[in-house]
Amino acid sequence: MGELIFTPIDEIDKIRATLKAGFQSGKLKSIAYRKTQLLQLAYLLKDNLNRFQDALKSDLGRPELESNFLELNSAIGEAMQSYNGVAKWAKPESPPFSIVFAAMKPLVRKEPKGTVLIISPFNLPVWLTISPLAGAIAAGNTVLLKPSDLSPACSALFAELIPQYIDRDVVQVVNGGVPETTRLLELQWDHILYTGGTAVAKIVSAAAARHLTPVSLELGGKSPAVIDSNCDLKTTANRLLWGKMSNAGQICISPDYVLVPRTFQDQLVNALKETHDRFYPEGPATSESFSRMVSSRHFARVKGLLDNTKGTIVVGAEYNPHTKYIAPTIVKDVKLDDSLMSEEIFGPVLPIVPVDDVDEAIRIINSREDPLTLYVFSSVAAFKNKVFDNTRSGSCVGNDCVIIAGAEGLPFGGTGGSGYGYHTGKFSFDMFTHLRASIDSPSW
Ligand code: NAD
Repeated sequence: MGELIFTPIDEIDKIRATLKAGFQSGKLKSIAYRKTQLLQLAYLLKDNLNRFQDALKSDLGRPELESNFLELNSAIGEAMQSYNGVAKWAKPESPPFSIVFAAMKPLVRKEPKGTVLIISPFNLPVWLTISPLAGAIAAGNTVLLKPSDLSPACSALFAELIPQYIDRDVVQVVNGGVPETTRLLELQWDHILYTGGTAVAKIVSAAAARHLTPVSLELGGKSPAVIDSNCDLKTTANRLLWGKMSNAGQICISPDYVLVPRTFQDQLVNALKETHDRFYPEGPATSESFSRMVSSRHFARVKGLLDNTKGTIVVGAEYNPHTKYIAPTIVKDVKLDDSLMSEEIFGPVLPIVPVDDVDEAIRIINSREDPLTLYVFSSVAAFKNKVFDNTRSGSCVGNDCVIIAGAEGLPFGGTGGSGYGYHTGKFSFDMFTHLRASIDSPSW
């Protein structure tokens, strides 16, 4: 794996100036030129698929199949969606007909914001970098990418490949940690997209406010899964455990905790145990299908949450600090003041909180920050609707997990504590587009 070389801080101003000049050159006004860059982006991934699979294996111990499914295929899909959609998306739009203004030819022009900054996280480092990048290029912006230093193999690949495939006046990569990102945030940008945790989001927002820069924040939080005793139990256990353990729980929409009727808890736990044994017949430690924690710090953080739980461990709670392995872990009888309920877990640990009924589940969800996603497993439409209609979340899913992020045509974004702004497909294009209203009044 290529070593991650941090960008010298004193080069950052020059890099930004290149992108500003690239924008001013006007070359991105041409839709054909944008399409060439988008096609190149798709080829960048396709030509180097094995290298990205290896990089993801190195950064997250992630199996190939999971990398293809979770992000590589969808990242190529995002580049191609923008390639196929941009001509239509960028067309000026006429507002509804108005007899008063018709002669003035009112139009909404779709204009790029300018030179934008995209800061991406470690957990889905390819998808969460390429997908917004495709939207930003489609909208005609020049882009500075700041991938995560916690996924060094992927970030090094970006630094190597982007200049080979994409016009250097259009996209540049800055690699680094806090000092490099701090310098980036001191500079003026025309939009900032930040994907990551809440604490850093506040730093990004405060820095952007100094320049009145618009910001989109794609954050995380504790996404609950509400279980109805009237559900398809085997399917529920399969999908819940798959969703939780993919990428070792390091997905922004991983189901974080479960709310289940007290009288149904043991049935759910037994089904989850049976699924666990089917997923990992030789045990998860040697399984080819289970990722590792991204860093020793995150390993220690999740282990600390588990060490302090007062819940009952049903399976898992085995560790290897050298390989950053935490076994898929299920904990039952978890109370609301437990360590496992104190923060987003972002690891392969599933706490189960027993509740009296669906009303208590709704009260618990509403007493916390709005989650990025809310899952409900039930065979009864009225049960699902009751939960969805009486709560708030970035998105909501019945009887499945995680896959909503890949559903074409749906916006992806949070609300309240899980962020604001929408991306993927046309929504990414819109994020980086200024709607410029225009009229052209006749002299009479
Ligand atoms: P993070 O906040 O630690 O890091 C994200 C980015 O911020 C990285 O590029 C990092 O280098 C940079 N950064 C870190 N510290 C900084 C500082 N002090 N100043 C400026 N920049 C700094 O987030 P993470 O740990 O990489 O990602 C995990 C979080 O992201 C989770 O909360 C997860 O739910 C969330 N997430 C959200 C989405 C979404 O689409 N909503 C997707 C993936 C992850």
